[in-house]
Amino acid sequence: MGSYDDSPPVKELNLNGPGFPIRLEPLRANGWLHDMKVSSPTASPMNNDISGTLFNPVYRAWIKKYPSALNVFDKIVACGRGKKIALFLDYDGTLSPIVDEPDNAVMSDQMREVVRNAAIHLPTAIISGRAVDKVFDFVKLTELYYAGSHGMDIMGPVGKSSSVADHRSCTNSNKGKEVKIFQAATEFLPVIEEVFRLLVESTKGIHGAKVENNKFCVSVHYRNVDEKDWTLVAQCTDDILKMYPRLQLCHGRKVLEVRPVIDWNKGKAVEFLLDSLGLAHSDSVLPIYIGDDRTDEDAFKVLRDCKQGIGILVSSVPKESHALYSLVDPSEVMDFLKRLMIWKEQEATSR
Ligand SMILES: [Mg+2]
Repeated sequence: MGSYDDSPPVKELNLNGPGFPIRLEPLRANGWLHDMKVSSPTASPMNNDISGTLFNPVYRAWIKKYPSALNVFDKIVACGRGKKIALFLDYDGTLSPIVDEPDNAVMSDQMREVVRNAAIHLPTAIISGRAVDKVFDFVKLTELYYAGSHGMDIMGPVGKSSSVADHRSCTNSNKGKEVKIFQAATEFLPVIEEVFRLLVESTKGIHGAKVENNKFCVSVHYRNVDEKDWTLVAQCTDDILKMYPRLQLCHGRKVLEVRPVIDWNKGKAVEFLLDSLGLAHSDSVLPIYIGDDRTDEDAFKVLRDCKQGIGILVSSVPKESHALYSLVDPSEVMDFLKRLMIWKEQEATSR
């Protein structure tokens, strides 16, 4: 996941702890352990104890910088008036709650209906660190685009694949539901499989460590590893990574990710989809990207730099971001999407 991150909700907002502020600095700058702590901030469900948080000057300064997308909803939709909205959604921590066991990150039926409704009316893509098949197994909707493995593996909805240009590869339908339309790093598949097996072997003695094969990247989860053993996780991963110069390490929340060294990320995936759908560089399009992880920052940055779209960070702790606005958790994401679709329907009927 890495990107499909997960931090268990804890009780207090630790504004002075290692999770705040997160600086978007080069990884490994101060050693992996430091990065592992910085990338895994202590989360806090602000809804549970919002009174204290609201009066915290650090939080108040942060929310001023990244206003709640619900509070500034009218301002956001004003930007989308008369435009085509394209929706990009991260999965873990955005559409599904963060859980200890990645395989249990189930999306609620209510959220699924909200996303389905959005996908029927707007071009919608889910962009995740997970393998695309895993994301589909969770979401189970055929109406949208899926970009798995941080956007390195993109599938389109049934009947729409022909509208998306295929730059590098095109394969037959998968499960009869979607069509693979883009794979950025096909040549890495055997290497990733090999590294996955090596990491499973080398970390099997570390209690709580879990290695996940996400097709174009390998995720080493340490959420359930005692913090005193985090250096062991880092050492095992580093020992193997050293043998593969064409692979690199990325930090997510409670996860180390081994990925191909290629110029590709969630931001590139957003650009690819916008371009392929004929929606890039257009004043009549408003892309909205909602995500909670460090890897979502690449997408926020793309939208911020092109001044074409809106990034919304899902976070219950103050942290630096390229996003413009914030939402606390997946339930607020659902509220935002519901309001967006109601507004869209009203806008369509008023024209
Ligand atoms: Mg996420």
